[in-house]
Amino acid sequence: ALAFTGQDLTKIYRTGETEVAALRGVDMSIVAGEMLVLLGPSGSGKSTFLNITGGLDRPTSGKLFYRDLELTALSERELTRFRRRHVGFIFQFYNLIPSLTAEENVRLVTDIAEASMSPAEALALVGLEDRAAHFPAQLSGGEQQRVAVARAIAKQPAVLLCDEPTGALDSATGVRVLEAIEQVHRALGTTVVIITHNAGIAAMAHRVFHFRDGDIVRIEVNQSPVEPG
Ligand code: ADP
Ligand code: ADP
Repeated sequence: ALAFTGQDLTKIYRTGETEVAALRGVDMSIVAGEMLVLLGPSGSGKSTFLNITGGLDRPTSGKLFYRDLELTALSERELTRFRRRHVGFIFQFYNLIPSLTAEENVRLVTDIAEASMSPAEALALVGLEDRAAHFPAQLSGGEQQRVAVARAIAKQPAVLLCDEPTGALDSATGVRVLEAIEQVHRALGTTVVIITHNAGIAAMAHRVFHFRDGDIVRIEVNQSPVEPG
């Protein structure tokens, strides 16, 4: 089954006189339950693609579907509802609230989401059950990012979108974060899309979309994705 389908997705950014084509007629599909990596040079359109897929941004033209639902036909309010229900985001910087413990940071999401696991369950999935009462400043960068993973998946989103999730971490720490994402992917069957500059992460993926100049120029299919570590 397909999670997302995109047809002729174009994104033009206009700033004053200048126009930048961030996406140039991208056709794509994302398979439900796959782990997909987006690779390509800086400025090739990966973040734009990820943000449009997750409903954080809209294409200038083209159609985007989540299953049978045409996201490009939704109102702002409907798109926000789609995002809240179905999409988890992880960015390079974890953006935890410093005055709240790990558990309280996750609880912010579980309190408002409809289908959710408990904060304790989410923290256990990323291997942080013994850090629930810690504040962000008492956690390492990698642990903070794993709290961010727990927060993103506690509402059991259909898809987890990660924009350079290990970009601010050293390799050993980054591996632990990837293991946490992989664990979530396995345990919950979550579709995962990861932007990375790290070739090691690409080896974990079912497929790799290679971006260049606003388009997907090659799709690599990985017969035997390796486990992180
Ligand atoms: P990547 O994630 O591969 O680095 P991006 O999707 O961030 O690529 O950017 C694609 C192109 O769009 C780049 O040329 C970038 O400068 C431009 N771009 C991205 N976001 C904006 C924006 N908000 N306003 C103007 N230009 C943008
Ligand atoms: P890890 O933390 O697991 O080593 P990273 O993605 O942080 O994974 O680093 C892998 C390599 O990619 C490093 O050589 C790093 O310098 C490079 N890299 C990471 N993020 C960026 C970025 N935003 N732009 C360019 N290179 C990057």
